[in-house]
Amino acid sequence: MIKLPRSLYALRMLIIGTTKLLGVIGDPVEHSLSPLMHNAAIAQLALDYVYLPLPVKAADLARAIAGFEAIGLVGFSITIPHKQAILPFLSDVSDVAKGVGAVNTVWRTDNGWSGTNTDVEGFVAPLKAYDWDWRQITPLILGNGGAARAVVVGCAELGCREIRVVGRDRQKLQQFQQRWANSSLKAALSIHHSCELPHLLPQAKLVVNATPVGMSPHVEASPLDAALIGKLPSEAIAYDLIYTPNPTQFLRQAQEQGAIAIDGLEMLVQQGVAAFKIWTGQNPPVEVMRHSLKQHLGLLP
Ligand code: NAP
Repeated sequence: MIKLPRSLYALRMLIIGTTKLLGVIGDPVEHSLSPLMHNAAIAQLALDYVYLPLPVKAADLARAIAGFEAIGLVGFSITIPHKQAILPFLSDVSDVAKGVGAVNTVWRTDNGWSGTNTDVEGFVAPLKAYDWDWRQITPLILGNGGAARAVVVGCAELGCREIRVVGRDRQKLQQFQQRWANSSLKAALSIHHSCELPHLLPQAKLVVNATPVGMSPHVEASPLDAALIGKLPSEAIAYDLIYTPNPTQFLRQAQEQGAIAIDGLEMLVQQGVAAFKIWTGQNPPVEVMRHSLKQHLGLLP
């Protein structure tokens, strides 16, 4: 069970007859930090909204969507297992979500539900702080799951012309590559087995961990062993999508190597910021959202 930070109780949250509903659907949703982050922003702006955890089992998705329609839910976030299953219920899907093949944010329009994927914007946001010529950067993405797809689209949006994806299962890697075959991705995508890492790492200026390796409670694990991390260029960016622990073993090792470390917390915040803007039309207080998460995760001094 999520323990609410004490300061949040002091925030001005008032649910009245006119309060508009937002939420996150998934199974499970108990672990989701989105209610914490969005309600902190809602309270700070004193908006007449509330953001709820909405547990929905895979088999109940159609009934849940019909219910949301009936009660006038304004919009919702989507987590596992509905990110792809939601597609048939949407009357409009953004190009970004089509590129990723998954939706994480839905909102109501006059024509029905619209969907997009804000993970891409969330992933890219911390990288935009670096004034690099991204056309010259060939990112190395570790993992070929759902998050890796958002990372691929994000890297292409940044301007990277070539993207390398590394996995442990050749068949899954091939499936990953095939899904981009007839897409509008503006970058060349190559797939590599993890045994190629010793050759790939020395050229990598951006390495993204899009695997769960190193996530709590397996905090000693790293997607790159000590011999491999030694091959990371000292000026590289090591980006871990994981936000607990913070930093991960991968980021610790990369920093010791002289690399720049980016953790997954900012991606979490920024994908939420993008969704909040869509639902409410307002710029959320980003620092309040970030602070609520850091406080909850015990990352504040
Ligand atoms: P996913 O769809 O299950 O994909 C996980 C990928 O990691 C797969 O390619 C899998 O390989 C690989 N993998 C799993 N265990 C591995 C191991 N022991 N060694 C090597 N590779 C391994 O998961 P996802 O949704 O992409 O999420 C990946 C990570 O990103 C998670 O830690 C998640 O929390 C994080 N994430 C963070 C944010 C954020 O906002 N910061 C957003 C989304 C995701 P196989 O295909 O061979 O099994």
